[in-house]
Amino acid sequence: MIFMALEKIRLDPMPVIAARRVDTLLRLAREEVRSDEKLARKYVKLACVLAARHRLPMKSGRKHLFCKSCYRPWIAGYNVKVRLDSKTKRAIYTCACGKKRAFSYSKRK
Ligand SMILES: [Zn+2]
Repeated sequence: MIFMALEKIRLDPMPVIAARRVDTLLRLAREEVRSDEKLARKYVKLACVLAARHRLPMKSGRKHLFCKSCYRPWIAGYNVKVRLDSKTKRAIYTCACGKKRAFSYSKRK
């Protein structure tokens, strides 16, 4: 019974399909942000809903790509300001909506 359950998990294609679709939506949002920001934000929101539905983590590859509060896809120099804080070893992203997010750029020992 346990082996059957494991096989079912491995054969389930939905997480793979959902992850691919999330990445596609984020890429489309980045392409669209300069011409139609409303549509780009809609794409990011859809990607977030899809990731939540399929329990996909927005890990290091995806978390730098958009604002969590206003769903704007980030393009450095266009709608997000990136500053490095050498004291705390963090990159601080300031979104156009005013929200700030910090990401560490060095591994702690
Ligand atoms: Zn924002």
